[in-house]
Amino acid sequence: MIESYLLKNIAGYIDGQWVDKADSGETTEVFNPANGKTLAEIPYMAADETRRAIDAAKAARANVPDVKTRREWLEDCVEALTEEKEEIGRILCLEHGKPWKEAQGEVDYAASFFRYYAETMEDALAPQKLEEEAKNCKWTIYKRSIGVAGLITPWNFPIGMIAKKIAPALAAGCPVVIKPATETPLTMIAMFQIMHERLDLPKGMINLVMGSSKDIGGELMSNFDVPVISFTGSTGVGQLLVEQSKDHVKKLSLELGGNAPFIVLDDADLESAAENLIANKFRGGGQTCVCANRIFVQSKIYDKFSKMVVDKVKALKVGDGMDEDIDVGPLINKAGFDKVHDHVKDALSKGAELVAGKHPDELDSDKNLFYPPTVITGVTHDMKCCQEETFGPLVPMIKFETDEDALKMGNDTVFGLASYIFGKDEKRAHKIISNLHFGHCGYNTGTGPAAHAPFGGMLHSGVGREGGEEGLMEFVEAQTVPDGS
Ligand code: ADP
Repeated sequence: MIESYLLKNIAGYIDGQWVDKADSGETTEVFNPANGKTLAEIPYMAADETRRAIDAAKAARANVPDVKTRREWLEDCVEALTEEKEEIGRILCLEHGKPWKEAQGEVDYAASFFRYYAETMEDALAPQKLEEEAKNCKWTIYKRSIGVAGLITPWNFPIGMIAKKIAPALAAGCPVVIKPATETPLTMIAMFQIMHERLDLPKGMINLVMGSSKDIGGELMSNFDVPVISFTGSTGVGQLLVEQSKDHVKKLSLELGGNAPFIVLDDADLESAAENLIANKFRGGGQTCVCANRIFVQSKIYDKFSKMVVDKVKALKVGDGMDEDIDVGPLINKAGFDKVHDHVKDALSKGAELVAGKHPDELDSDKNLFYPPTVITGVTHDMKCCQEETFGPLVPMIKFETDEDALKMGNDTVFGLASYIFGKDEKRAHKIISNLHFGHCGYNTGTGPAAHAPFGGMLHSGVGREGGEEGLMEFVEAQTVPDGS
């Protein structure tokens, strides 16, 4: 069992109180994916607890303080995340399995969202006067908080994902009801402990319910008092939420699945492209929505580039994220492991060649969740690893001939989240970028989202943006006041 001074309560949090038992009395376990050991037993909550949290959040609306006080909350969070970085990172590392240094980096990343919104919120939320006078009216546009926000987060960035939602929600003045992923609730509980102790929040301003995704999600979606939902997760669940939200016409911000193309043109700096690919692909063990999923390499450089990638992949160290110098941790659960396994088997059965990693016949998720970093060449677009997001440490290399082919294959997916392109000729690369239907397109970099820049998907990858002023506006409604006096 996990011991931490930030986990005095292994509990939900409703109306300013820790709630350590679910109404049903049921509990569920949190595991360390590196060794299968139980870290904690958490209450398994459902619709009734969610309703109480929503009621408390609704009542808190009357007590939401002005923008200056809210900015101080965000500043306090930056300070707390900085001071508690090591311990939060440790909890994160234990329940997610990602390498220690990545877990520590994620805490910094989370702090950057609180910092960015603290620095920019007052200007962004200031009423706007319209210069032009129409019909002898002066116009003022107020930026009003939408109301109670439901925030649903996945397990792959246990602190990063909540930071990019809760920082703008609190900045905008929205009380929140949060549902963390069942796999990784402990980092969130630690964050609540910090906010409980350090921030002078009105009761009901922040609420945490965990347990049944279906029942908690169902209540958040069907409750009139939650007008805005921010969700990060799979496209399937996102589609369900859209359906469930229709009765009350909620504002939805959905960051869903991806199928990122990583295009390497024949004039690219190959060493830099290979380095960026490794850093991008193996972050979180390949379990991020911005990880390159399909690697398109122009025929002239295909063999050379593949070899460079294979050499780097073979040097990666796999193990428990808590151990020193680990590059790749375990997959989050058996289903995650089995999906990668299935994609590799499918590709090999259709003619791909395994050039780094182990043959799937040697691997079994019942033994452990460490999937060896794997490279396959001779990949074609009909294989499962190109059609679906693998979400694991697999690098499938696809050969292409012309720029038009790269564009056509890159866009040959319903998803549109992240994409990457490497090539020295800017004009040539930008011609492709301008036609790629992806919300994020790294040019000569595998860098993902950042606090100051809007990030989000097109098509089946979602609606709305996180980060930047756009991320704040997801929690804000413009109210237009023409004044004829
Ligand atoms: P992932 O594959 O990343 O786990 P999911 O979409 O399954 O993606 O999960 C993302 C988040 O959505 C998690 O917090 C999960 O518990 C939650 N979730 C899963 N099913 C539902 C649902 N029916 N309603 C609301 N939230 C859900």
